[in-house]
Amino acid sequence: MKKLWRDGVSHLTPYVPGKPIEEVKRELGLDEVIRLASNENPMGPSPKALESMAAAVKDCWLYPEPSCLELREKLAERYELSAEKIIVGNGADHIITLIGNAYINPGDEVIYCHPTFSSYREITLLMGGKPIEIPTRNDFVTDLKGILHSITNKTKLIFICNPNNPTGTIVDTEELVSFLNQVPESVLVVLDEAYAEYISVGHYRTGIEFVKEGYPVISIRTFSKYFGLAGVRVGYAVAAEKYLKPLQAVKQTFSVNRIAMAGALAALDDINYGERMLLEVNKEKERLTEQLLSFGLDVTDSHANFLFVNMKRDTSELFTKLMHKGVLIRPCGPWKLDTYARITIGTIQQNDTLINALKEIQ
Ligand code: PMP
Repeated sequence: MKKLWRDGVSHLTPYVPGKPIEEVKRELGLDEVIRLASNENPMGPSPKALESMAAAVKDCWLYPEPSCLELREKLAERYELSAEKIIVGNGADHIITLIGNAYINPGDEVIYCHPTFSSYREITLLMGGKPIEIPTRNDFVTDLKGILHSITNKTKLIFICNPNNPTGTIVDTEELVSFLNQVPESVLVVLDEAYAEYISVGHYRTGIEFVKEGYPVISIRTFSKYFGLAGVRVGYAVAAEKYLKPLQAVKQTFSVNRIAMAGALAALDDINYGERMLLEVNKEKERLTEQLLSFGLDVTDSHANFLFVNMKRDTSELFTKLMHKGVLIRPCGPWKLDTYARITIGTIQQNDTLINALKEIQ
């Protein structure tokens, strides 16, 4: 038979990000299913973003403005840097793909911690690179020293997910500065900050500040989490122009649609809504943590809109039991994490449903 695969990718399988709600409803005959498995914002976006997206629909016959200039300018104003230092993509995942497409050559080594967001491994393998996975420290924080020691002359990229998905941990700012100062110039550091808005430490320095200070880093951000726009797909990267140029070269011209751009622009304007949502998430995070601790479970301190929990039982089995009760969580096994789960902070009602389901299962 004629070979259709590109060499070295035939072993790759498409990533399936958890079970879709509709599929679970159909398979199990359930009327209501809640998903606390994908770190979405269950409160949804600002009503102003909804209005703006509805208004943008009438222009759907027109191609979108390809450089997303208006959105880049608004983001530039927010972060006090130039719009040339920003590229917008079809979600943060698209940005990760662009980085991989632009930078990873076959044989290049790409370092990141484990466990972390799966896309770094996928894009590395897809491009013929070699993933170098460094276990997190015992406290589940990304091991910057371990990453530093693993750099070789083949290292091309380092991904640091901060806050880290699925552990919710953040690296110490001073340690990150020291790390960035020691990384060789030939290596590009990507700080995936999809959950940066949830960091609950005052004066924490994020990748955008490092970009402004001239460090060779790319900061990745998204509208999928804090801004509640996961379904329309908008993410962006902030970096010096010389690091974004290769991304622009491989990006499809019209990859960000008009409706998504209208939603993102309006969401940025509604500062009060974002702040209210953050308070709500933090309140529920505290309540859910207390409940889980009262069940005798271990909960890692989280700087994101999810919790990393040692459920002290096999979570793939627990997942199935909870699914039959209409609640989806994310098991984190295998690799020493068989008893760990990642649970998105839901609405008050959703969290209550989870708590009650766990009580019934115990
Ligand atoms: N980075 C991290 C760390 C994530 O957790 C996610 C989403 N789960 C993404 C990137 C992708 O986000 P987006 O929806 O913007 O593609």
